Amino acid sequence: LAVFFFAGIGLLLFSAKEKNTNIEDEKIEQLLKQMTLEEKVGQMTQVTLEVISKGEGPFNMDKSWALDQKKLEDVLLNYHVGSILNTAGEVRTPQEWYEVIKPIQDVAVNNTRLKIPVLYGIDAIHGMYSAGATMFPQEVAMGAAWNPELVRKSSEVIAYETRACGIPWTFNPTLDLGIDPRWPRMWESYGEDPYLQSVMGVASVKGYEGADVSDPHQVASCLKHYIGYGAPRSGKDRTPAWIPETFLREYFLPPFAAAVKAGAKSIMVNSGEINGMPVHASKKLLTDILRGELGFEGVVVTDWFDINNLVERHHIAATKKEAVKKAILAGIDMSMVPYDVEFSKDLIALVKEGEISEERIDSSVRRILKMKYELGLFENPLTDYRKYPEYGGEKHHQLARESAHEAITLLKNEKSILPLKKEAKILVTGPNANSMRSLNGGWTYTWQGEATNKHAADHNTIVEALQAQSNNIIFEEGVKYPENNPDYKVDEIVDIQKAVTAAKKVDYILLCLGENSYTEKPGDLDDLTLSENQLQLAHAMIATNKPVILILNEGRPRIISSFEDKVKAVVQLYLPGNEGGNALADILYGKINPSGKLPYTYPRYANDLVPYYHKFSASTAHTDGNINNNHKIKAQYAFGFGLSYTTFKYEDLKLSSTKISSDDELEVSVKVTNTGEREGKEVVQLYTTDLVASLSPSVKRLRRFEKVNLKAGESKTITFKINKTDLSFIGHDNKPVVEAGEFIISTGNLQQKFELLDTKQL
Ligand code: BGC
Repeated sequence: LAVFFFAGIGLLLFSAKEKNTNIEDEKIEQLLKQMTLEEKVGQMTQVTLEVISKGEGPFNMDKSWALDQKKLEDVLLNYHVGSILNTAGEVRTPQEWYEVIKPIQDVAVNNTRLKIPVLYGIDAIHGMYSAGATMFPQEVAMGAAWNPELVRKSSEVIAYETRACGIPWTFNPTLDLGIDPRWPRMWESYGEDPYLQSVMGVASVKGYEGADVSDPHQVASCLKHYIGYGAPRSGKDRTPAWIPETFLREYFLPPFAAAVKAGAKSIMVNSGEINGMPVHASKKLLTDILRGELGFEGVVVTDWFDINNLVERHHIAATKKEAVKKAILAGIDMSMVPYDVEFSKDLIALVKEGEISEERIDSSVRRILKMKYELGLFENPLTDYRKYPEYGGEKHHQLARESAHEAITLLKNEKSILPLKKEAKILVTGPNANSMRSLNGGWTYTWQGEATNKHAADHNTIVEALQAQSNNIIFEEGVKYPENNPDYKVDEIVDIQKAVTAAKKVDYILLCLGENSYTEKPGDLDDLTLSENQLQLAHAMIATNKPVILILNEGRPRIISSFEDKVKAVVQLYLPGNEGGNALADILYGKINPSGKLPYTYPRYANDLVPYYHKFSASTAHTDGNINNNHKIKAQYAFGFGLSYTTFKYEDLKLSSTKISSDDELEVSVKVTNTGEREGKEVVQLYTTDLVASLSPSVKRLRRFEKVNLKAGESKTITFKINKTDLSFIGHDNKPVVEAGEFIISTGNLQQKFELLDTKQL
């Protein structure tokens, strides 16, 4: 009876939702019928908040923001603008945000002819861009936790805190593959692996959007930057990529496909070009593949100024009008103009001249209005900050701390030097030792995170966190990042000799190196090696002969091979957010057992920048037959690697069959035992290798993983199921195929062969 009852309720809810969708669709059609061309095109325009500010803009970041009511009315009533983004450089409390957005929505819903609310968007990347918000580890660190449930929960908290500020749309998650550490946005991704990225991307979309995105605790997500943004050939931001279509489909497309399937409401386009074609003008990528193949029904928004960039940067259009035509016909719905309110003029002219049909415009406007409806903006254009008591609260900070615990990755621990005893005397040194800015990275409070130290003052830096747990901490910076210097690359020597003298009095040196905060172009590097000043400090500390524990607080793997063999322990902290200092102290003192695993390959040399799944090649051909030792490319640390204070043993790798057909599901099980003396978490990773294929296969590919908690002495058998999609690859004709032949399954230090009996196009 209960089954029937619940099924009945389910059916009712389902049909209620269906009914709502129909009503919404009808309302949208009615609205569309009433809209003038100018009003429609306005909905497709997104301007930055600076445009309606009293300041001179653009880039009037230092001046305090004040609304210019006249400009606001001009933008909404004359240009009919439908969307606004960003912060205009100020860090606000939720109440202050409310006061910014309220007049905007008031004009939109009271004074415009059709009373359509504004869609406000922001880069709430690892936390809302606001004072007192909870700042989680950045994406790369969340990737290192290998725990999708943490990603889902943290996105849920970010959604809550973003809505507390009256904003219903975040430009996240970033699904660019983090395959090239030269690229300054690598840390905005979950790492180099397409599968890990897909799992985390889906978890993030679910956390942001929830079961129903009209819930005032959820926000619409925006997948970015579709597609291939993470692989510029020069390594520099927003420079051209060359990606063969087979590779694009094999590695770059799956995370977007998975997140689209999970229901993501919007997508932002890659500012760069692939194989000579800017993505903003590619009908093939934006319409044929994204809409046609992936079935995406949401809103496609440009990145910053990128229609103009078709003229300025890419030189594929001689005039702005021609650029607008190309982008709209390629499939753009909304243009992040962001200062150029006149964008609409070109589009209106193009429609009037018959170059673009009004139906084409309608399809974009329909999607934008639908997103506004789905977010509940027509009923409730502005959420009220007073209804969000948990904003920045203890529960949220606990989750941020737990996320950092699971992310932090122990890469070296000679003679189990870690964990440390509270009585141990420690010298803490290095430019990252006392900086909230470097713990957080870019997009924190302000675009490049400059305001972090001020707004995160009540959180602990590394040295403060250690001092909170022990009385035996000495701090000598040695090298520092100068304050108020927006160029994150600059560091300067304070007094290395002082640090050397202090080292004489201690048992251990905690050397905190890495990077300051940055994102996008300003993060372009000339050299992946750590800075000269930091190297000088490292060598001086090593020369004291006191054991050095290296803490890496960085958004991408900087080269450390000139001194790595001389330090006793290495901890990868990534960009762990506001709770990162506390979480590190918990791990160093052994309160928490580290369980993070690298979500990328840590290169040893600057010329070895390849992900773990690179192809068999001269450098991998002479393996000893063990697929786990295939890295003749000399990684400093391999993808998926990370130590624990306990040890794990893998045994009994079993396959449900050693000969399967492509329609069979293969069950793989393995027994994992905690063989050490304390409880710990292990990430069980399952890889497949296709030994012979008609296109040179990847050395191996991650297909499944599970993070398991094991008490000392405890064993668990983990079972995975894999199917033909996991064994397929993109063939010569750019279509997925499985080919008969031998495969290897590997996990931990174990591997087993099996045979696939048939070849099939999928
Ligand atoms: C970045 C995007 C971001 C947008 C809006 C661009 O410069 O590439 O990731 O969402 O600005 O701030």
